[in-house]
Amino acid sequence: MNDTDKAAADLARTAEAIRAGDRVDLGRAITLVESAKPEDQVRAQELLEVLLPFTGKAIRIGISGVPGAGKSTLIDQLGVNLLAEGHKVAVLAVDPTSSRTGGSILGDKTRMSRLAAEPHAFIRPSPAGASLGGVTKTTRETIAVAEAAGFDIVLVETVGVGQSEIAVSDMVDVFVVIAIPGAGDELQGIKRGLLELADIIAVNKADDDNIERAHRAATEYRTALHILAAGHAGWSPVVLTLSARDNRGLDALWDKIEERHASLRDSGVLAERRADQATSWMREIFEQRLLAAFKGGRRAARHYQELEDKVRAGELTPAAAAEELGRLVGLKEPE
Ligand code: GDP
Repeated sequence: MNDTDKAAADLARTAEAIRAGDRVDLGRAITLVESAKPEDQVRAQELLEVLLPFTGKAIRIGISGVPGAGKSTLIDQLGVNLLAEGHKVAVLAVDPTSSRTGGSILGDKTRMSRLAAEPHAFIRPSPAGASLGGVTKTTRETIAVAEAAGFDIVLVETVGVGQSEIAVSDMVDVFVVIAIPGAGDELQGIKRGLLELADIIAVNKADDDNIERAHRAATEYRTALHILAAGHAGWSPVVLTLSARDNRGLDALWDKIEERHASLRDSGVLAERRADQATSWMREIFEQRLLAAFKGGRRAARHYQELEDKVRAGELTPAAAAEELGRLVGLKEPE
């Protein structure tokens, strides 16, 4: 067997092992996907191509909320409930900030200790030190690998701050925001932008002497969403209360998630959305490559910095600088 044949046989064997549920090969494949080394990337893409026909079958759910909202408690409990029903559950994290702030690491196995011990669960934290672009590319590809490995539920955890929610909402079917009852103005803690992404708002910690406050918070969210929804045709998020700690309200949450997913699937919107996601993913990767190639060019790189400095100093408008860069790399003037 020559080297090419050997590599192809190796690839086929790995793909087969992943599909058969081999954890070691699954872990290795994801490490390959996360690797920035060009030779690993080539192999990762080859593997993804072989796995492609077996992807896309999971319910993909985004779970977001500020630190302390109860994301890991909820994912742990929901995951355990779903395993008991015979599902296979993968938990992935999109968190480009954790390595810098030293805060709780999303997707950390110690935060989901019961789920982490289950053979039909798989937990993967964000790769450390990666940019948002790097994390989202990796997460998208990891979703695909997990689906090929037979995980029928993929939970993508993210912190309720910054840009990562938008990236996550673009790779999941149902987006859940976890809120907590607070004192006074309930809506303080959650940004309007985050609310606008939500399919479901789950007010957590509705237990002990918090029950009444949780219900009041839910009412406030319903009112706020009602106003927001007026500008969005076909968008009608639901609000519910639950206690992740006590495993109360989680069945109702799951029913809503399934209901959303089924209606997306039956109306054909899911297939359309997946197709849109795939093409926007292609565009994103291409743009990243273009930009990397462009910045790698000596002449362009020198001018790039110069123009950036001028824009920063307010000497040049961003549009004029972008035009200038376009001319430098030989782009035609816009028609
Ligand atoms: P995360 O940072 O969003 O992952 O939040 P955690 O799941 O780590 O929870 C933060 C804190 O809230 C922990 O002390 C949990 O024990 C607590 N917590 C989580 N869910 C509930 C709940 O349903 N009720 C109560 N009372 N506390 C909860």
